[in-house]
Amino acid sequence: ANGRNCHVAFDPEMDAINREKRRIEHELRATLDAGAKQLKLQFQPLYTLPGETLLGVEALARWEHPELGNIRPDQFIPIAEETGMIREIGAWALRSACEAALHWPDIGISVNVSVLEFEDPNYVENVRTILHETGFDPGHLVLEVTETVMASGELSERILGELKELGVMIAIDDFGTGFSSLGRLRNLDVDIIKIDRIFIDQIDVSVRDRELVRAIIEFAHMAGMEATAEGVENASQLDCLRMIGCDNVQGFYYSRPIDAHLVDQLVLQRPIA
Ligand code: C2E
Ligand code: CA
Ligand code: CA
Ligand code: CA
Repeated sequence: ANGRNCHVAFDPEMDAINREKRRIEHELRATLDAGAKQLKLQFQPLYTLPGETLLGVEALARWEHPELGNIRPDQFIPIAEETGMIREIGAWALRSACEAALHWPDIGISVNVSVLEFEDPNYVENVRTILHETGFDPGHLVLEVTETVMASGELSERILGELKELGVMIAIDDFGTGFSSLGRLRNLDVDIIKIDRIFIDQIDVSVRDRELVRAIIEFAHMAGMEATAEGVENASQLDCLRMIGCDNVQGFYYSRPIDAHLVDQLVLQRPIA
């Protein structure tokens, strides 16, 4: 690929990246074996439109390593997926999120799920057990799966169906960035489409992006789903989203991901409907 007469026997940059990956893999294994004490969840609020009331929070994994510092999920989730550790992280995240959300009545909790977790034949049973053991109401749980779920065929269709039977809601995450097929989406029993923030970023200045997002929202409504906009960072983006009928919003404009005790305060401050 680098052309003739070009040797790539040793690429110091690649070598450093690989060493870093192996280190993260090793450290992740170690912390999972030690009870995942270095992992924690933060929570980012979601609000409804047009009323802007608190709808729920999305649980986002955080890893605080004593020597390496904070490791971002974009760094360790892909490695967890490659190594199979995502199953343990997924179960940890779901259980921790349900336990935290028991303190927050009447709001939803969204938990990210990797499609690779579906390959575990016990996946649905494990979700059922976690719901049972924590006593969390499945009607307040949203499982967020990325669009790749649509590429992975009958297995994921069946699992999504079984999850719906447990009474949980399903959201398609990062909508518009990956393998999208409206035909496949039609066959899936999905409750929420989360429109990726790359489409929200320029929505207040780009007519094209605005019309695209409007079309996604209209499609969602036609299919009986709700649309959530991710990555809302300013008031003019919010105005656009309100104008084109977006159902829910999430982003730094409202709040960054926050610790659980700050969600306690949000829930207490909530105006009585
Ligand atoms: P995601 O599920 O799309 O989560 C939203 C990400 O966007 C979060 O990054 C959040 O902090 C960030 N974000 C939210 N609002 C804004 C905004 O207004 N502007 C900008 N620029 N960013 C915003 P985070 O926490 O770093 O997570 C990155 C990704 O890691 C998540 O993307 C998700 O795919 C994955 N992830 C996190 N926790 C878990 C987990 O427990 N399980 C799995 N499977 N994946 C997870
Ligand atoms: Ca998500
Ligand atoms: Ca997303
Ligand atoms: Ca993402």
